[in-house]
Formats: sequence, structure tokens, C-alpha cells
Amino acid sequence: MLYRKLGRTGVDVGVIGMGLEHIWHESREYVDRIMNEAISCGINYFDLFMPTPEIRDKIGMAIRGKRDKVMFQGHIGCAAKEGEEYYRTRDLSICEDFVNQLLKRLRTDYIDVLILHFVDDDEDFKRVFESGGMLDLALRFKKEGKARFIGISSHRVSSSLKAVESGVIDVLMFPVNPAFDMLEGDAEIESAWNEEPYKELEGKNFKPSSARKELYMACERNGVAITAMKPYACGWLFDPNNPSSMVLTPHQCLSYALSQPGVCTVLPGCKTVEHIREAVSFLEASEEDKDYSSVISKTRWDFRGVCMYCRHCMPCPSGIDIAAVTRLADSAINGLSEDMKAKYDTLQSKASDCIQCGICMERCPFQVDVIRNMERAVKIYGK
Ligand code: SF4
Ligand code: SF4
Repeated sequence: MLYRKLGRTGVDVGVIGMGLEHIWHESREYVDRIMNEAISCGINYFDLFMPTPEIRDKIGMAIRGKRDKVMFQGHIGCAAKEGEEYYRTRDLSICEDFVNQLLKRLRTDYIDVLILHFVDDDEDFKRVFESGGMLDLALRFKKEGKARFIGISSHRVSSSLKAVESGVIDVLMFPVNPAFDMLEGDAEIESAWNEEPYKELEGKNFKPSSARKELYMACERNGVAITAMKPYACGWLFDPNNPSSMVLTPHQCLSYALSQPGVCTVLPGCKTVEHIREAVSFLEASEEDKDYSSVISKTRWDFRGVCMYCRHCMPCPSGIDIAAVTRLADSAINGLSEDMKAKYDTLQSKASDCIQCGICMERCPFQVDVIRNMERAVKIYGK
């Protein structure tokens, strides 16, 4: 497994994580098998939002003796009741009960990341973050040692950005895939399944400063780790008839999500052992296999001049990780943080090592002016 820091928490998380919702209704033996396989593949980060007691019990049993090998994103703000297995709630006593129940059923004293569940609009953000709201309850759990870190999950840019800039959360669970990222502004994700919004954008020049990119950059700047859900757009990106005009392989989807600023880990939903092995095989895949530039450069949008962090221009004779340097330069658009400087310092070769040979620019399918980007990075980071 390859590990990245979970943002400013400093904790090491495998770049391939896993969403557990697809094993919700499976037997105890099946859940055991899936969890064992995932752990033996080096997966150490799991999203567990499901509120029903049975699945929480089964996962708790499956990780007996292995608690130190797994980290959970548990959710606060989702609950279950008779006749309905899942609903979102802001009732604090219900929220408290369900978090305590999660700890008990997992047979653990703490949740690694307590996620404020689906804060999807500005009004809900206000309600959750106001004094005495669900955030305060989550912070109390943290103070009591029952949660190590706090995060939110969301599908919307506006509420996510507010949470990221609040300085309170360490983790953002957000859908990251190229089809959603092509939608302008804070587009309704539901509209992604229709041809209409994509048609409207036909031929338009894609702006790296679009709302979704700005959110990713804000995460990078603030040291908030993105745990990326829906990297395959629910399998939709494998369907040749999807309206985004992009058809990608699982490896290309994972590579795209992991290339975006702020992203720490991807959380594909795996239902079978084969799904887990397929996701983890990403780590052994060739650069060619992971390269999504050929698909994205043939879509109906005009990406000229915009770095898609695809690495198609590599290798650089000076050893510069062009995509990483450009990502850090782009993310500095609204300011520079200590976290970004530290990341830049870890790069073996710096933008100042560029000898302006131009090979990368011949290779880049998006006609990016890499030399100018390297000069920009030197101005920002001083080397
Ligand atoms: S410069 Fe071009 S080829 Fe290189 S990472 Fe950016 S978009 Fe990809
Ligand atoms: S122009 Fe600079 S960044 Fe591009 S390949 Fe040459 S040395 Fe590397």
C-alpha cells in the first residue's frame, strides 16, 4: 500500500480506502471475508455510515483483534428506525445514541474520524455549525476521547467550503471524479446523470478555478484531507452511454481522484473480494494504464492550457514531478500555507531545477505552458 498523510492530522492512510455500504446486507461470514481481504491488502481506512445495528455488529466482530490495523470514518447525523433503515437527522439525542451505539457495536472506545453526515446546503451548515448544534456534540465526543478527528461529508461546494475554512474540520468526504468535476459551479450532482448540463458546457474552455477545483485547492491550503467518494461516479463512468462523453477504466478513475489537490484517499464501494483486488491492483498498474489524459483530452471541452495533473508529460530529465509542482502552484492561488510549503519541501526536485528543455510541453495533450508554470512555482516557493 502507498500511504498519504490525512491532511494536518499527520496520520498515515492508504491511498486506496473502502466504502462499506455494499456489504450492508451480507452475512456475518461474508463481512468477515471482505474485511479480512481488505486488511490483508493493506487497506486501513473505511467509511461506515450505515446506522443499522446488524452491520455494525458484523463489522465489529470482523475486526476483533485488528482494531489497530483499521481506521473508521463513522457518521454522526444518520440514524435508523423501524421500517426505515436509514435517515438523516439533526436531533442531538438521536445523534448521540447512534454514535454511542456505533462504538459499542464496533467494540471500540473511539472512532477515528467522526463525520458530520451530509451537510449539503448552506442552511444545514448553519444549523449544524451554530452553537449547540451537531458540531458541538461531535466536539464533545472528541474531548471525551471518543473521536480522534472531526470531518463532514457533503455533495455541495458551498457548504463544504464554509466547513473547510471554519478551521474546525480535518476531513472532507466529497465525490471526486472527472464527470462531476466538469460540471460548472456548485451544480446539482443529481443533474450529472442528465445530458443537459454537459451539453450546455460543450466546447467551453474548462477553467481550473471552477468552484469544485477551488474547493480542492482550499483543502490543500488548509490541510483538510479529502476522502474521495464516488470515484467511479457509481460505475456510471464505465458506461459508454453516459452523457459526460467520458468512459474510463477503474484505474484511470482512481488515478484522476488521487491526482486532485487535497485528496488523501479514495473510497470505492467494494462488494466482492474481486472488487477489492481490482482497486488495490491500481498500486501495481503502469503509468500508461493509469493515464486518463487520452480520455479527457478527447472530450467535448476545451482544456487547452489547463493542467489536469495527469503526468502524461513525465518523465522530466531534471526529475521534476511536474504534476505535483503545478498542483502546489495552482493551490497557492488564494494564499500559501505552512502545510503547502512543507509538501513542496518534500519534493526531490524543485521547479528551479527546470532546464527549460521543453520535452514535457511536446508531450502534454493539453498544451500546458509547463515552463511558465515552473517559473510561477519558483516565484511562489522561492526554489
Ligand atoms: S503539464 Fe500536461 S501532461 Fe503534464 S500533468 Fe499537466 S496536463 Fe498532464
Ligand atoms: S521543460 Fe523543465 S519541467 Fe519540462 S521536462 Fe524540461 S526540465 Fe522538466
